[in-house]
Amino acid sequence: MNKPPIDWHARARDIKIDGRLVIDGQRRDAASGETFACISPIDGRVLGAVARGAAADIDAAVASARAAFDSARWAGQSPAARKRVLQRFAEKILGAREELALLETLDMGKPIAHALAVDVASTARCLAWYAEAVDKVYDEIAPTGHNALALITREAVGVVGAIVPWNYPMIMAAWKLGPALAAGNSVVLKPSEKSPLTALRLAELAVEAGLPPGVFNVVPGYGHEAGEALALHMDVDALGFTGSTRTGRRMLEYAGRSNLKRVFNELGGKSAFLVFEDCSELQRAAETVAGSIFFNQGESCNAPSRVLVHQSIADDFAEMVAAQAPHYPPADPLDASTVMGAIVDTTQLQTVLGYIQAGRDEGARLLAGGAQARVETGGCYVQPTVFAGVSPSMRIAREEIFGPVVSLLRFKDEAEAVKIANDSPYGLQASVWSDNVHRAHRVARALRAGTVHVNQYDEDDITVPFGGYKQSGNGRDKSLHAFDKVTELKTTWLRI
Ligand code: NAD
Repeated sequence: MNKPPIDWHARARDIKIDGRLVIDGQRRDAASGETFACISPIDGRVLGAVARGAAADIDAAVASARAAFDSARWAGQSPAARKRVLQRFAEKILGAREELALLETLDMGKPIAHALAVDVASTARCLAWYAEAVDKVYDEIAPTGHNALALITREAVGVVGAIVPWNYPMIMAAWKLGPALAAGNSVVLKPSEKSPLTALRLAELAVEAGLPPGVFNVVPGYGHEAGEALALHMDVDALGFTGSTRTGRRMLEYAGRSNLKRVFNELGGKSAFLVFEDCSELQRAAETVAGSIFFNQGESCNAPSRVLVHQSIADDFAEMVAAQAPHYPPADPLDASTVMGAIVDTTQLQTVLGYIQAGRDEGARLLAGGAQARVETGGCYVQPTVFAGVSPSMRIAREEIFGPVVSLLRFKDEAEAVKIANDSPYGLQASVWSDNVHRAHRVARALRAGTVHVNQYDEDDITVPFGGYKQSGNGRDKSLHAFDKVTELKTTWLRI
């Protein structure tokens, strides 16, 4: 028998929000007793009060994490034992999938169908994958030829701080948690003040799964309070940051001003999507542009926000992309058929509208969208927006918009395409569309980006590293390479 469809509105009305922080496996209020309002971008409704964590709470969370680490109640367990707990954690996440998806949608505005199929599913898969990996990673013996063994072993770094953004709150947290917990570290997570709810629930599910108290703590709060306190903390050994390039720069300063903790930044992007005249799949390319830039309301670090098209096909291709826009109408995120939801909050809404105005002012040609939508709901919605005739110097070609706005530029030949694509402080992702395999490889090699797709954009998997060149960051999330960020390498010489 088919299950009846879920009435997400009814569930949204009944949902109870617990915004207290999680330290030592326990819910508690912020030391100051202060809270901030958690507002849904769907309709402006106040969902509840969230603890306004600050320096005293970060101190308590780091102390708890340190005590858990020093006691070896997690790091001292065998890899197989940690694996079982993390597998249970992943199962708990799937068991709570509807609740987590609803919290994510209410808090951040993304379509409920995506929250279920992408956010919850990827979060669980990430944790399960690192659980599976942890008892399959071997240490090394160096081939010194000496009369001694040089053992190269990996050890947990200790206390890992994680500061994450609001666009994929659970997935970004999982990318930090998976390798850090699997390797035996303790974690203090500071979610974005714009979307703190699912991180708090994850911490409870982790304890239910058997993660010892103190191993995973969550302190919500503002960046300049809780975030700064965590990044400056003298007892945090490594800091995994995902967010804007501006804030990532600060993370490095904080480390310099405190204990030189290792900082791994995953930052902004302005990804280029190159379409050559020999591409025979222009319709699929146009659909891929739209599907990728409008997914998650354009609030994706790797969104292909710059589309570079050969001049001979530029006008036709721009029309093809614009024709896709009506397939992404901003709609109620709690409706299971919605494909584009709300922008995270009024500040980000104004930022996106400001860029649309900048595009008009600088003379770009508006082919689709260009305005706020669903104003009557009290929520934050923007029409899917397509600009053509964009020149490389315009702000909409250079700056990260983080909204459903795509800029189409034109190039005259391969060299100019690569030059424009690389003329950016960012280098997160790129895509090359061409039927010429030599050109595709040549261009893919020339592009300064952490991930390059050829004739597609949407492949992704936990098994591959994710991260950027240049000011898109350092280090890599995902894959076995992420263990490098949360482990120390130790050499032990043993005379034989
Ligand atoms: P943001 O930099 O404003 O905030 C990110 C986090 O840092 C939040 O938790 C925030 O509270 C905290 N923070 C802000 N100021 C701080 C300070 N002074 N000290 C300490 N912490 C501080 O970014 P955002 O608006 O939340 O997220 C959007 C950005 O994230 C975009 O630039 C996007 O490209 C980037 N992003 C990158 C990736 C990636 O993997 N490369 C993934 C997702 C998002």
